[in-house]
Amino acid sequence: MQENRDIASAQSTVNEILRDDRSLYSTQFALGFRSLNFIPDLEKSFRQYYLENNPAQLRRVIPFALFLTLMFSVADYLRLSGEIFLVSALPRLVQLLALCLLAIPVYLNYTRWLGPAVMAALVLYGVSTPIMLGVINQGEYFTPISTQLIILAFCYFLAGLRFFHAAATGAVISIAYPMSQLLFPYPLPNLGFNCFIIVAFNMLGLVGAYFLEYTARENFLSRQLLSEMALFDSLTGLLNRRAFALDLEKICNQAKRDGVHLAVAMADVDYFKDYNDYYGHVQGDQCLRSVATALQTSIRRPLDKAGRYGGEEFILVWYDCSAKDAQWLGEEAREAVEDLELSQGPDARQRTITISIGIASSEPDNDFDSSSLIRAADRALYLAKNAGRNQVVMAAETPSA
Ligand code: GH3
Ligand code: MG
Ligand code: MG
Repeated sequence: MQENRDIASAQSTVNEILRDDRSLYSTQFALGFRSLNFIPDLEKSFRQYYLENNPAQLRRVIPFALFLTLMFSVADYLRLSGEIFLVSALPRLVQLLALCLLAIPVYLNYTRWLGPAVMAALVLYGVSTPIMLGVINQGEYFTPISTQLIILAFCYFLAGLRFFHAAATGAVISIAYPMSQLLFPYPLPNLGFNCFIIVAFNMLGLVGAYFLEYTARENFLSRQLLSEMALFDSLTGLLNRRAFALDLEKICNQAKRDGVHLAVAMADVDYFKDYNDYYGHVQGDQCLRSVATALQTSIRRPLDKAGRYGGEEFILVWYDCSAKDAQWLGEEAREAVEDLELSQGPDARQRTITISIGIASSEPDNDFDSSSLIRAADRALYLAKNAGRNQVVMAAETPSA
């Protein structure tokens, strides 16, 4: 009985954590994407990611397509009479033109035009090929529809088109075959069967293209989730300690180059143990999220950053910020947390949740580094705690490496 209750309580904790997960990527994993669609924000970045990866694939595939086209031309040159070969030269030129059309955005990095160019090139290639077959077959030569199938294979598996674009392009290429038979009536009793083969190949291609895009979406989400986990704290969404340290290192160097003041603030929730003891850890986590959101209000410039330093400790850096401004920003952050009015519970030493803040400010001409700033801010935080908590203390010393 007790065991069942423990399991139920653990499950509800897990559910609550999942419900509060701030990651768009894991939310999308939970929602699924069988219809090959993400929530709007993600869909936009997925398409961008997909486009950016396409040129690399096409750069490898285009020479291969060119090689195959030339191989077919050589084979036809060897087997066809000179007259027929000459007449078939025009659609053959259109095929080469289609490959050039594809190569231009790929090699010149016009990613914006890549999708339309791939589709246009495939349609051009896919329509000129059955016309060429018609011309050749009129000369009493037999050419199977395999070439059409090769183009369809390219369309579904190699061109890097998303599922719906591949399906539309495949449909146009497929229709070109029976249409060309109207233009070049060749006594072909197998026309119906050939159409059946093309339809069957399209079905295969659609299944393949679906799984390719599904896997691409899965990879996208996994990659983004991994890099998010490497950079951000999953509870608060702030930078994690490691990512903050790396950023701070760069920001220190930038401040030295620009000759500007830098301020680092360490914040710690006061008597947080009391809150946890009374409300439990799940609500404690919710409280930390609220505090993180309140602290973020003081982060306004591109080089201002906020991170979670550990448990209930946070760290902030304000760029181009004098000691006076830093004191003011610190007060603002402290008030933002106080204004949340999160009750500490009846037996706590304080009525509501507050934070203590220690701030270290660098002088532009001093030889400071990230560790010296953090150490000084930490000492100031200790003083703020000892002085009674819920206050901001500026470090007396100027940090130096
Ligand atoms: P002080 O004013 O001196 O900082 O008192 P305090 O109670 O905040 O200090 P102490 O360091 O003793 O307690 C910190 C508490 O923070 C203890 C720990 O259980 C809690 N804590 C640390 N990380 C987390 C977390 O991720 N979630 C929750 N809910 N609690 C956490
Ligand atoms: Mg604390
Ligand atoms: Mg602490």
